[in-house]
Amino acid sequence: MADLKIVGISKSFSPVPAVKDLYLDIASGEFVVLLGPSGAGKTTTLRLVAGLEQPDAGQIWINGRDVTQVAPALRDVTFVFQQYSLYPHLSVYDNLAFPLRSPLRKTSEDDIRTKVTAIARMLRMEDKLNNPATKLSGGQMQRVAIGRALVRNPALYLMDEPLSSLDAKLRDDLRLELKRIQQDTGATMLYVTHDQIEALTLATRIGVLDHGDLVQLGTPQQVYEDPATVAVASRLGSPRINLLPRAALPHLAVPDSVATIGVRPEHVLVTDDRSDGGQAVALIQRVERLSDQYLLHLRLQGSEHTLIASVHPGQAGHPGNKVHFHISHSLYFDANGQRVRH
Ligand code: ATP
Repeated sequence: MADLKIVGISKSFSPVPAVKDLYLDIASGEFVVLLGPSGAGKTTTLRLVAGLEQPDAGQIWINGRDVTQVAPALRDVTFVFQQYSLYPHLSVYDNLAFPLRSPLRKTSEDDIRTKVTAIARMLRMEDKLNNPATKLSGGQMQRVAIGRALVRNPALYLMDEPLSSLDAKLRDDLRLELKRIQQDTGATMLYVTHDQIEALTLATRIGVLDHGDLVQLGTPQQVYEDPATVAVASRLGSPRINLLPRAALPHLAVPDSVATIGVRPEHVLVTDDRSDGGQAVALIQRVERLSDQYLLHLRLQGSEHTLIASVHPGQAGHPGNKVHFHISHSLYFDANGQRVRH
């Protein structure tokens, strides 16, 4: 358990700036998830913290110690990569035991057995302990790779899309396990993902990166409800936020600087007629059924734009029906995609 301070870190792979003057303070026991599009600088940030890349400027502090010039093995961090990296000639048991047998840690074989067995049980791989690492499926290999990080107790865990190669069920299970383990052990985590469900469920705070800039840092609720930019607003939320030019919703009185109106589907309230408070008219184009909600694709009257509303089954209606709708909450953005507060 440790805190992490990233102080004004920059790194470019000439001429591409991968990370720009990044400041990030992570308290001991926090689970910070970095989100962002491909090429945003997420992996580079993890590699800088691990010491696998040297920054052009700035410092990395772990537990009050400046480790910027410290070799990766001496930083007491563990890194789980997107692509499993096991020792193919070793068994699952020996792969899991490997970090504990490092000369830097003097762990007895009895203690190693206890820890490896506990981790294997948690990963549901007890019956595979004697398998060579090469005789595993991709998902099993990744579980061993995660187990190898969990088996020791580093100051800091760095994880780069560790669940992305797993099937949906295992991914859900391991996500819950990771959260439980992190809460039980009080581990400090810096975790990269593309998956918004992982970000929303795992993170104590989410950092959104874009082109090497930290665009926003906040709790999942803050980032979802109060996004700083259009890009952040559209990164979180499923179904995605509706983004419409202001002209598409002429009944809303919006400030002059607004170019785009963002409306989350749960904030489009559909009513049968104007007396229920419906302010605008639309035609149901399509009805999509999800597990516990319906998505109505609404063609706005007098416009080519479509608005998606998420409604309860009883409100669904049918394609071709005319409905009224009311927008209970919207987000405004200027022509540069920056939030306009109102
Ligand atoms: P992804 O989600 O696709 O993994 P990312 O957010 O992790 O993306 P990075 O891998 O950190 O992004 O890359 C940030 C930028 O730095 C990209 O423009 C990338 O092409 C560049 N980059 C990263 N590593 C190198 C490298 N070793 N050499 C040259 N350019 C690199």
